[in-house]
Amino acid sequence: MIRRKVIRISTLIKVAAPSVGEDEIVAVADVLRSGRYVQGPRVKEFEQEFAAYIGTEHAIATNSGTAALHIAQAAMGIGPGDEVIVPALTFFSTVTSVIHNNAIPVFADIDSQIYCLDPEDVKKRITKRTRAVIPVHLYGHPAEMDRIMEIAHAHDLSVIEDAAQAHGAEYRGRKVGSIGEAGCWSFYATKNITTGEGGMITTDDSSVAEKARKIRNHGMSSRDDHEVLGYNYRMNEIAAAIGLVQLSKIDKLNEIRTRNSKYLLKELESVDWLEPAQQKPYVKHAFFWCPVRICEERLGMKTKDLVVTLREKGVEVRHRYVAPLYKQPMLLKQKAHPKKCPFSCPFYGKEIDYSNFDCPNTERIAGKIIGLPNHPGLKEKELDKVILTLKSVR
Ligand SMILES: *Cc1c(COP(=O)(O)O)cnc(C)c1O
Repeated sequence: MIRRKVIRISTLIKVAAPSVGEDEIVAVADVLRSGRYVQGPRVKEFEQEFAAYIGTEHAIATNSGTAALHIAQAAMGIGPGDEVIVPALTFFSTVTSVIHNNAIPVFADIDSQIYCLDPEDVKKRITKRTRAVIPVHLYGHPAEMDRIMEIAHAHDLSVIEDAAQAHGAEYRGRKVGSIGEAGCWSFYATKNITTGEGGMITTDDSSVAEKARKIRNHGMSSRDDHEVLGYNYRMNEIAAAIGLVQLSKIDKLNEIRTRNSKYLLKELESVDWLEPAQQKPYVKHAFFWCPVRICEERLGMKTKDLVVTLREKGVEVRHRYVAPLYKQPMLLKQKAHPKKCPFSCPFYGKEIDYSNFDCPNTERIAGKIIGLPNHPGLKEKELDKVILTLKSVR
């Protein structure tokens, strides 16, 4: 049993792999020799280069994407009693970052074509407590930002873009992460570019940037003055050194991801149980994933069984997110801070029951999307194996 697995893994086509080479290794060795490890010149340079790439005034490096989301909201003063609208389909830390700030996540449905927040459903979820909305550029496709910004402005809401899956993606010619009040990024190992672990906030708002820098570093304004509640969310020099090299390759890496994804989608066009995700004509997709939706009736198989079958045939695929996030036990049981904060916070003055949420598009789509191997390290014959394997399933 165990032996069989080992053999399979050695021939498995991985769905994701960091694209790191000799340049990154040399950059890391330089840091280790320098003796300066935390938030030094390389972090500063990485922030400047990243801001220039995205097109914002400021960039604030952090040690994860989740930290970036946490700090961005804290810097905007989001806290007890506030509601923040999030999509029902995303990585869970979009949601937990709201709770880390003692605020309440409120779910809105996704659009059934691009899987990102449906702006009209966002509008329906706005109450007098709503302070912000977090559109996620899911799988690399930009959310419908014009309409989201329009609704947000009309209701005086902040917009925090969760761009953790969309490095380099563009919406109507603008880089995502530069459209809302802040953009939050992750450089986790398998993202479009990586620093191992890491994150970034991009913003044009000098006040948000200044507060975020303080919160990131123990709330310090100077060596011995802690002005506000802060955290240690700093990026280290090793991560920044890797990030600088990765950033210099980002367009090339994204180009290969895009080419791989388009090749797969074109060759799989004839497979009637696969429905490729739509791409709006006015966006540049970052293809963090190459997402396809499974028509289980036509295939005659559940998506989770398909995932196992493909793996047995040597093709690893992604299969996330399998259910609307309001079904997560943490939310249903309200297991956050002690004494049921923030859900029973007196500043909130309302009750929230996550079992009452219903987002029909998310209910229908969650669990039926898989991501095909599309990372820049794949060879053409591996892509061809992915295609043949998928075609041979039924
Ligand atoms: C990866 C990711 C995050 C979290 O980033 P970490 O660096 O892993 O903390 C947040 N939101 C989305 C949509 C992500 O994909």
